Amino acid sequence: MKCQVLGVNFDNITMGEAVRRAGNMLAGDKACYVVTPNTEIVWRCRSDAALTEAIRGADMVLPDGIGVVYAARILGTPIRERVPGIDFITEIFRQVAGTGKGVFLLGAKPGVAEQAARNLTASHPGLTICGTADGYFTDDAAVIDKINASGADILLVCLGFPRQECWMHANAHRLNVKLMAGLGGSLDVFAGIVRRAPEKWQKLGLEWLYRLLENPARIKRMMVLPAFMAAVIRERLTGGRNKKER
Ligand code: UDP
Repeated sequence: MKCQVLGVNFDNITMGEAVRRAGNMLAGDKACYVVTPNTEIVWRCRSDAALTEAIRGADMVLPDGIGVVYAARILGTPIRERVPGIDFITEIFRQVAGTGKGVFLLGAKPGVAEQAARNLTASHPGLTICGTADGYFTDDAAVIDKINASGADILLVCLGFPRQECWMHANAHRLNVKLMAGLGGSLDVFAGIVRRAPEKWQKLGLEWLYRLLENPARIKRMMVLPAFMAAVIRERLTGGRNKKER
């Protein structure tokens, strides 16, 4: 089942279903990719055709962000569950640890993916991290060769939006992995460089506030929130009649 928020179609599924579908992708024979849009990404789609296209081409679109959940509720098509990308991939790690499936970590500043690999292999015994590369590359072909040579089945693409979504969309056909996910700053969290909000804050839907307090520079990015909510309310009131053409 799909749920549309300002033109972005989300898969209206639970974490358990998302992980099951990811398992099917891992057993398949093409390179599937998962995107995890939050409010900023949904808003950016209104002015970024390439990002919109990349999200449309995704095999699974998970609602990562309380703003998207509230928006869906306002629009009268509630999302069953918020499925944060970092929790989704952590669940996948749990499932594949000990199975021999290889994971490649792509993104973040030099050294971060390596640190994340060390932490993840310590926290998930049996997890195979078969390669890493930082996210500040210019030569796509060299990175793709490195990923393919590693024999990875799963690829974390943590290049920030919209680069990560567009990169997966453009390169899926050149990659031999089975499952990719665009996961923003997740490697910084796995490496211990950025702290994730405590569970209580997450449960209250205040992860965004925690991230803002930890890094006040994020305020600039959050300026889109009032405009996003205004557009959602307008869409609800007009039944989508004034929806921007995309
Ligand atoms: N990043 C990257 N390559 C780039 C731009 C950004 O690897 O060209 C990384 C950046 O170092 C950070 C991540 O992408 O690790 C983006 O993190 P952010 O917290 O902004 O993402 P969010 O989770 O908020 O979407």
